[in-house]
Amino acid sequence: MLDEFAIPRDLVDRRVTRMRVLSPSNLAADFSRALPPGAHIPMLRREVLDSFLRRRAADAGATLVPGLVTSLSLPADPTADPYLVHYISSDSGSPSSSSSRSVLEVDAVVGADGANSRVAREVGAGDYTTAIAFQERIRLPDEAMSYYDDLAEMYVGGDVSPDFYAWVFPKCDHVAVGTGTVAAKPDIKKLQSGIRARAGGKIAGGRVIKVEAHPIPEHPRPRRVVGRVALVGDAAGYVTRCSGEGIYFAAKSGRLCGQAMADEWKLTGAVTEAGIRAGYLRRWDDEFRLTFRFLDMLQRVFYGGNAGREALVEMCADEHVQRRTFESYLHKRMAAVEPWGDLRLLWRTAATMVRCGVLGREVERLRRLEQQAADQVLLRH
Ligand SMILES: Cc1cc2nc3c(=O)[nH]c(=O)nc-3n(C[C@H](O)[C@H](O)[C@H](O)COP(=O)(O)OP(=O)(O)OC[C@H]3O[C@@H](n4cnc5c(N)ncnc54)[C@H](O)[C@@H]3O)c2cc1C
Repeated sequence: MLDEFAIPRDLVDRRVTRMRVLSPSNLAADFSRALPPGAHIPMLRREVLDSFLRRRAADAGATLVPGLVTSLSLPADPTADPYLVHYISSDSGSPSSSSSRSVLEVDAVVGADGANSRVAREVGAGDYTTAIAFQERIRLPDEAMSYYDDLAEMYVGGDVSPDFYAWVFPKCDHVAVGTGTVAAKPDIKKLQSGIRARAGGKIAGGRVIKVEAHPIPEHPRPRRVVGRVALVGDAAGYVTRCSGEGIYFAAKSGRLCGQAMADEWKLTGAVTEAGIRAGYLRRWDDEFRLTFRFLDMLQRVFYGGNAGREALVEMCADEHVQRRTFESYLHKRMAAVEPWGDLRLLWRTAATMVRCGVLGREVERLRRLEQQAADQVLLRH
């Protein structure tokens, strides 16, 4: 992502080269033996990245208008008239300081306003289910912080998240400790206590400096382009279920969408719904639909219960799994199929899951059904 979006290296707080996954029984798999030489997982703070991107856009000629969008007036003629964006403006960007109501007339709108998107609501783009993510930024004593210098930890287990994972990620001078759930939103604080307990002594003596909680979309919205209004990032629903990753996909979809609009404008002097669909939606779906579906499937298989989670951690120790995961993670694509390696992986996955009881339970259920059927046949005779 850093290269693709020309993000300066000095924005990166930490370069993670060691990734540890911990199972419900605290079995640990070090998930970084297959990281290519020189590669790392960059950790940065969204507030730092966002302000850099805003400044860069302004330097490139964009006019920044700080404010809170309150509504959209849709055009009477959807093909020609402008959209009216109503917003509360303020010089500082904070609506509370000397705010005033304003209107902006525009040809097209890109709704990049997150999971609670006002833009999506105004154009009737439909709803999606959301998960909730909760995170505490914790400043650790120096010695404890040095443990997380280049290490990120992911914890799986019903005690920390019934359907995803919990994490301890190093940031500049602190760690981010958090969890997410779709199934048990009211229990989010209990799950947060769970991850604090699992990380235990490693984060002992830490001081909470910030608490964040935010919805995360589970699926794309029913409509992502309505007229000349397009949704990108969380507003469109682009977060992978298995890993909870959304920053890259927000940036990528924003760029694809903006590029599609600019290209059509340059060519024809107008932006149209058909142009946005062809230049943005179709290209997005061609590139990423399969990846999102695959990660959806993995989430269902491996986060469904503690047996699946134990199997997941056992598989994470496998070098082939690690290499394939990093290829997909670093390049944001599903890695190309390696017939023999992947077939062996499939067998190993099945074997691991049987060992950990996931398929074992299924086999047991089928055996019981078979036995019942055989008993009924005997009774009929
Ligand atoms: C606790 C937590 C941890 C996460 N960790 C990771 C991670 O490690 N890696 C990863 O890739 N993803 C992570 N994600 C997901 C990631 O943060 C999101 O997918 C990503 O931020 C989406 O970017 P976005 O720009 O689409 O939306 P947002 O980041 O939500 O940005 C939306 C912007 O729109 C503004 N806005 C909203 N409404 C209005 C309005 N009416 N008028 C004007 N402005 C408005 C908001 O102020 C905000 O600036 C995490 C999410 C959470 C909650």
